[in-house]
Amino acid sequence: RALLARIEATDSRVNAYITVTPDEALAAAEAADRRIAAGAMTPLTGVPVALKDIFVTRGIRTTCGSKILGKFIPPYDGTVVAKLREAGAVIVGKLNQDEFAMGSSGESSAFGATNNPWNLACTPGGSSSGSAAAIAARSATATLGTDTGGSIRQPASHCGCVGLRPTYGRVSRYGVIAYASSLDQVGPVTRDVTDCALMLGAVAGHDPLDSTSIDLPVPDYAAALTGRVKGLRLGLPKEYYREGLDPDVKRALDAAIETYRGLGAEFVEVSLPHTDYAVATYYLIATAEASSNLARYDGVRFGHRADGAANLIDMFRRSRAEGFGAEVKRRIMIGTYALSSGYYDAYYLKAQKVRTLIMQDFMKAFEQVDALLTPVAPTPAFKIGEKVDDPLQMYLSDIFTIPVNLAGTCAISVPAGMSAAGLPIGLQLIGRPFGEETILRAAH
Ligand code: GLN
Repeated sequence: RALLARIEATDSRVNAYITVTPDEALAAAEAADRRIAAGAMTPLTGVPVALKDIFVTRGIRTTCGSKILGKFIPPYDGTVVAKLREAGAVIVGKLNQDEFAMGSSGESSAFGATNNPWNLACTPGGSSSGSAAAIAARSATATLGTDTGGSIRQPASHCGCVGLRPTYGRVSRYGVIAYASSLDQVGPVTRDVTDCALMLGAVAGHDPLDSTSIDLPVPDYAAALTGRVKGLRLGLPKEYYREGLDPDVKRALDAAIETYRGLGAEFVEVSLPHTDYAVATYYLIATAEASSNLARYDGVRFGHRADGAANLIDMFRRSRAEGFGAEVKRRIMIGTYALSSGYYDAYYLKAQKVRTLIMQDFMKAFEQVDALLTPVAPTPAFKIGEKVDDPLQMYLSDIFTIPVNLAGTCAISVPAGMSAAGLPIGLQLIGRPFGEETILRAAH
C-alpha cells in the first residue's frame, strides 16, 4: 500500500509506469503474508517489483512501449515473470521504455517520455527508462529491464541505480519481446548491489523454453559479496579513456580508481583495438535482427489492425504504418536494407566478422585481468529533446556499453559520484563470460 501511494504521489511527474496493477498487487501481497506466516519465504517474498513493459505478463497489458501492442493482453507469463511470482515477489506494474527497446532516452515510447527524478528536464536514459526512474523515484523496490546495447546500464548510470546486464544465456528470454535476439539479455535495476545479486539469483538459470539459455548452476550471488577486492586485477581499456570524455565523468572514474587502489586492487592498461567499429557493427546486426523479429506485427495474429483496408497487403501496410513509431520504422528500413540481396555480404556478413574480432579483443584482455573498469556513458543524463532529432548522436551515447553485448559477456553499472550539476554518474565493471560474481563483488 505504501508503494502504491508512492507511485500515486510521484508518477504524474516521472511517468515511469505504463500500467499499474493495484488489485493484483494487493492480492499477491496478501498471499506473501500467508507464505511468510507459514515460514516458506524467499528473499523476494512480499517485495514489490515492477517490470519493463517488454516482459510478457499473463492477463496484464504488455505494450513494449508501442502503439502496435497498445491493447495486447498476453495469455501467458514469460519465464522470468513466472520465477518472480514463484519467489513470492509482488508485481506492481509495467514500466515505460523506448518503443521495442530502441533508444537511449525513453523518448521513443508511444506512452510519452519518462523524466529523470534527479532533474525532471533530463531523460533517465533508456531504453529501460522506467526501470531506472522508478528505482530513483522510490516508486519500485526492484525492477527488471533488458539490455541489447546498454539499456540497463546506461539508465542505471543516469539515475544513480545499480544495473546488471548478465552474460548472454544466463537468463531466459522466453516471454521477453524480441528486439535483437543475439544481443538481448534480461537483468535487474536496483537500489544497491545486494538487491541486484538477489534479483539476479531469482531469475537466472537454464530454461528448456529458451534454447540459448545455458545449463550452468546458478551461484549464490549474494554470498559473493565478501567486500574483498585485494589482489583483484582491473583493466583500463585505453580506447575508453580518450580526450573528449566529459570532465565530470573523468573525475568520478579517477576517484573510483583511487578508492579501488586503496582497497588493494591492481590496475593494468589493456587495449580493445576494435572499439571504434562497435557502434557501426551493432547498428547493422541489431537492425537486421529487429527487422526480422518485428515482421510478426502484421495486424493478423495480435496487435493493432488498421480499419478500412482494401486488401490483405494494404492491411499489413496500414497496420504497421499506424502502429510503429518513427525510430522503429527507421530501424526496420536499415535492417531490411542490410539483409537484402546484394548488400548482405557487404554489410551484415562483414558486421558478423567484426563482431568476432570485438569478442576476441575482450577474451585477450581477460587473459590479463579479472574485469575491466570503464565509463558507462560519455556524459551524465542529457536534456529531454536534446538528441531526439539527431539519431546518430543518440546512437553514440552507447559507445561504452555496446561492445559488451557484441562480445556476449556481463557488465554492471554502479553509482560512482555526482556531476557538478547534481546528476548521478555510474562506472562500469565488465566481467568474463559468467563472471557475474566477480563484478558484483567489485561493485559491492
Ligand atoms: N540504445 C541502443 C539501441 O537503441 C540500445 C538499446 C537496448 O539496449 N535495448 O539499440
